[in-house]
Amino acid sequence: MKTNAYAAQNATTPLAPFSFERRELGEHDVQIEILYCGVCHSDLHTVRSEWSSTTYPCVPGHEIVGRVKNVGAKVNKFREGDTVGVGCMVDSCRTCANCKDNLEQFCEKGTIFTYNSPDKHTGGITYGGYSESIVVDKEFVLKIPKNLDLAATAPLLCAGITTYSPLRYHNVSKGQKVGVVGLGGLGHMGVKLAKALGAHVVVFTTSPGKG
Ligand SMILES: [Zn+2]
Ligand SMILES: [Zn+2]
Repeated sequence: MKTNAYAAQNATTPLAPFSFERRELGEHDVQIEILYCGVCHSDLHTVRSEWSSTTYPCVPGHEIVGRVKNVGAKVNKFREGDTVGVGCMVDSCRTCANCKDNLEQFCEKGTIFTYNSPDKHTGGITYGGYSESIVVDKEFVLKIPKNLDLAATAPLLCAGITTYSPLRYHNVSKGQKVGVVGLGGLGHMGVKLAKALGAHVVVFTTSPGKG
């Protein structure tokens, strides 16, 4: 399906309109109309080829919130009209020890990220959420409650989980103190989440305005 997007054509020019074909809906796939996509600094690093070398054109975006347009024949847990999210991963091998342990981000064969990763379906690379629609395997699609502010929900797909995960891993709870260094895109999420988990939260910042 033809999809309009914003893409970087190289490491120095601004993003510009770009269109490409999303894959056809497979039997395990969910086709999503993208409503919102957060801007993560990883998007900027990738677009500027500041990490590993970026494949261009690059359509970034891995904080995706949208509405289900269609589902494949073997998809039961989503239906048309559902509000859903997609984070930084869209696939993995599903068979290695880490995948079996629900740690797809550590897939031994290589996690397939939402953009700038090899796309086994198209033979090209994956294109992310700065686009009108996306087709994602059901195992990498998340349910989003309808009562949330969807624009504000999008950053939870990366900044949110990045800060929620360590807080849960360390069982942060009432009576504990949590220090958050920097009150930016992730830091402010860390403050909210740690506070919600009952911790005493302390922020370290060098910006007087954030005091
Ligand atoms: Zn991110
Ligand atoms: Zn794996």
